[in-house]
Amino acid sequence: GETIGILGGGQLGRMLAVAAARLGYRVHIFAPEADSIAADVSAAFTCAAWDDTAAMTAFAADCAVITYEFENVPVGPLAALGDVPLLAHPRALETAQDRLNEKTFVTALGGRPAPFMAVDSRADLDRAMATIGTPGILKTRRDGYDGKGQWRIMSPADAEGLDLPDQALIYEGFVTFEAEFSVILARGADGDIQFWDSALNIHKGGILDVTQVPAPALILDQVPAARDLARQVAERLDYVGVLTLEFFATADGPVFNEMAPRVHNSGHWTIEGALTSQFENHIRAICGLPLGLTTLAVKGAEMKNLIGDDAHDWPTILADPANHLHLYGKAAARPGRKMGHVTRLTL
Ligand code: ATP
Ligand code: MG
Ligand code: MG
Repeated sequence: GETIGILGGGQLGRMLAVAAARLGYRVHIFAPEADSIAADVSAAFTCAAWDDTAAMTAFAADCAVITYEFENVPVGPLAALGDVPLLAHPRALETAQDRLNEKTFVTALGGRPAPFMAVDSRADLDRAMATIGTPGILKTRRDGYDGKGQWRIMSPADAEGLDLPDQALIYEGFVTFEAEFSVILARGADGDIQFWDSALNIHKGGILDVTQVPAPALILDQVPAARDLARQVAERLDYVGVLTLEFFATADGPVFNEMAPRVHNSGHWTIEGALTSQFENHIRAICGLPLGLTTLAVKGAEMKNLIGDDAHDWPTILADPANHLHLYGKAAARPGRKMGHVTRLTL
C-alpha cells in the first residue's frame, strides 16, 4: 500500500503505526531519537534532527501523506516536505504549539480559557499576578507536556523565589474545577465530524493518571458546549484527523485548558472501548477514507497509565482477564515516563 509518514517517534506514533498497518499502509517514521519505539513497529525510519531539511525532503519523497504525533515539531523546516500533504493542518500545529496562540484563538471563537497574560519579564509577571491574582500557574508557552515547564504560584511570595527561565511564558489564573475531561473528535477529509464519548480525566502531579468512561453527570452536562467549541476549532483550522481539547468542568461550565492537534492519551481507551479507535480514525481521515463509528462498544472502560516503575507490575495486571495491557517497548523506566497503559473493560 501507500506510505504514511509520521513526524515523531513516541507511543502515539507507535499506536498510529499499528492502526495504519492493519489498514495495509506502510509507515515511515521521522524522529530525532535513535531509540524510537514507533520506528520499532514501522517499515522505515529516518533518524534526523527536526531542522535537517535534506533528511526531511528525502523522507517526504517516500510518503503519500504525512502526519505528526508530536505537536512541538518546529514549523519552519517543514517547508522541506514540499507538496506532500501535512495533516491535520500546518496551521493547527502553529496554533496548538504556543499556549498564548491557542488561548487567543479559542477565545476568538467564543471559548473560555482561564484568565491569561503573556509573561516575558519579571515586571510582566508582577503585572499578571496583580491583574489576574493568585493562585495561578506560570507555564512556558512552548514545549511543555506532562506538566513540565509549569510553576504553581500560590502567593506573590512564591514568585519572588522563582528563577524565571529564559523562555516566553504565560501566567494563567488557577481554575477551581470539579473535574477534568476532554473532547476528542475525528474530522474526515469530507468534513464529517465524529466525537468519542468524553471521559473523566484524573491527573496526578500534572500527568494524566486515569481516564474513565462513561463520565459522571457533572461532565456530561458540559459536553455539548465543549463539543461546540471543538467543532468550531476543527472547522476553522480546516482540520483533517483527530483533535483533542482539554477542559475543566467548573460550576460555571466548561473552561478550556489546552488543545492537542493529534490523538491523545485520554483517548487510549478507544482501542478496545469504542467501535473505532482514535488511531484508526486518524489514519482513515488523513488517507481520505470514511470515518468509523466512534460509539462506545462496552458498558465502560477505565484506562490507567503505567508511569515510571508502575510498569513492572504487568504480570499482576494480566492476571485480571478484564484488563488489556499495552506496553510501549521503552527500554528504561524513568520517573514520570509513560511506559504503557492498561484498559479495564466493563462488559
Ligand atoms: P499535557 O501532557 O496534557 O499536554 P501539559 O504539560 O500541557 O500537559 P496542562 O494540561 O497545561 O499541561 O496542565 C496539566 C494539568 O495541570 C492539568 O490537566 C490540570 O490538572 C493542571 N492545571 C493546568 N493549568 C491549570 C489551571 N489554570 N488551573 C488549575 N489546574 C491547572
Ligand atoms: Mg499540553
Ligand atoms: Mg494537558
